[in-house]
Amino acid sequence: MTDSLVAPTAPAAPKPSPAPYVVPAGLADRLARRVVAPARAETQACVTPLTGGHLADLPVSTIDSVDHAYRTAREAQTRWAAQPVADRAKVLLRLHDLVLRHRDELLDLIQLESGKTRRQAFEEVMDVAGVCRHYARKADDYLKPRKRLGALPVLTQTVELRHPKGVVGVVAPWNYPLSMSVTDLIPAILAGNAVVVRPDEKSALTALRSFELLDQAGVPEGLVQVVLGDGPTVGKAVLDRADYVMFTGSTKTGRGVARDAGERLVGASLELGGKNPMYVAADANLKAAADAAVRSVFSSAGQLCISIERLIVHEAVADEFTALFVKRVRSMKIGPELGWGNDMGSLISQQQLDTVVAHVEDARSKGATVLAGGRARPEIGPYFYEPTVLEGVTAVMKCRDEETFGPLVSIYRVATDDEAVELANDTTYGLNASVFTRDTARGRALAARIKAGTVNVNEGYAAAWGSNGAPMGGMRQSGLGRRHGAEGIHKYTEAQTVAVQHLVPIAPPKGVPEKAWAGAMALGLKAMKAGRIS
Ligand code: NAD
Repeated sequence: MTDSLVAPTAPAAPKPSPAPYVVPAGLADRLARRVVAPARAETQACVTPLTGGHLADLPVSTIDSVDHAYRTAREAQTRWAAQPVADRAKVLLRLHDLVLRHRDELLDLIQLESGKTRRQAFEEVMDVAGVCRHYARKADDYLKPRKRLGALPVLTQTVELRHPKGVVGVVAPWNYPLSMSVTDLIPAILAGNAVVVRPDEKSALTALRSFELLDQAGVPEGLVQVVLGDGPTVGKAVLDRADYVMFTGSTKTGRGVARDAGERLVGASLELGGKNPMYVAADANLKAAADAAVRSVFSSAGQLCISIERLIVHEAVADEFTALFVKRVRSMKIGPELGWGNDMGSLISQQQLDTVVAHVEDARSKGATVLAGGRARPEIGPYFYEPTVLEGVTAVMKCRDEETFGPLVSIYRVATDDEAVELANDTTYGLNASVFTRDTARGRALAARIKAGTVNVNEGYAAAWGSNGAPMGGMRQSGLGRRHGAEGIHKYTEAQTVAVQHLVPIAPPKGVPEKAWAGAMALGLKAMKAGRIS
């Protein structure tokens, strides 16, 4: 924790005073100037969920501001796209260093805005550094012109080019204030695009500070435009003007975003919800599985799209695993301190708390058993809720199929691996999954049968999430498109094929009868198949 953001004493007593949770006025004023908004804009209050206390006021953008942001971004984009990829990459390598250097300040802001623990906030720092490093080092390879087989070998010389889309519109959610605001921008700008981004109002301070670091890293003026305002008005206006749409949020909102993008025939990447399963097989290391389940269910108080909400356990080990897991959950340390050492922090808002309460009470009233937790903890902070474990959840209960996005998990017992796979796939979602087994080959085979964009073997979510060279995203109702890897940068480009024809046309040359030409071509095609030319 740095003194620059947070006044001296973090509270040790269970009931915190709002006083320590402050953002210096100078910082907030400086960040406010990074927002494209009218001179006398309306303001929105930033509050900390840790206490409900006021942190800062930030300006709200208008539709005119969004138009202005796009005009500026378009001008800057043309100049940026003319720079070599290697020069663009240097900016991202500098951002990597800046984010690590300023991590304490960023961790304070993330904790203040999201209410999560410092360890979970640090995952965001690691994520940004990892994505910067990966794309900065690999962008040249991902984006370079590639020779492709031409229509006629040797005679047709074909090259695939990658052009930037133009201006990418990004709507970022609140649950990962740093990660979700920055990581989608990194491949977009490396590919030569400008960006207009609307971070969620609940994560705006962290987002704005990270954009300052982007400026400091050397992103040209105008290239990254930031607007603030509500989703249905300002967020929608950002996406409605984009040459490519990058949206992260719920499946319900994502459907509307996809419809609008479809209407305009622009591409869209939609990172949406999940109801993610972890399967603990009969041969799993149960202690390791129980530890990982605690991390994977309760990270960011469950407000992580890839967090685990369903624990599927082989009946041969279900009693033992449940005892180990519940014991760990009951001893979790929950608290509001801006420092290391807590296992879980707060939910972000009354709305999130209401959903968790509704899911637990609905399940309890219909016969589910609460094995751990099950209570709000207002004496710690207004939106704290205990890490909660349910058993006996059935299809009539909301939390069986609906995403809770909170610190709630249900345990289900199965008799076979096949049953486990069937249950894991018994959801409309398909974002993330996990398999615990001592037999890695079996883990891989089970993973391939689960319909989820990422599957972690002997981890909950971090192994796949941190694998920046491999695609990450949702199957089924969990989204369209992928982050990370080649797909995570190619989506921000238009592929263009340039084919140069030499010597003879792809048509009968002058004086050659069509039938003879067709015969010669047929022989040529057969030869290409025999020669495995593809
Ligand atoms: P939400 O869909 O209500 O809102 C998400 C964001 O979209 C918010 O910032 C909101 O202001 C904005 N928004 C709302 N309406 C909009 C519109 N018409 N046009 C443009 N933007 C609009 O979701 P939420 O409840 O705030 O966030 C939690 C959801 O996000 C969960 O379902 C979670 O799984 C999902 N999520 C997914 C990922 C992922 O990578 N797959 C990551 C984080 C969160």
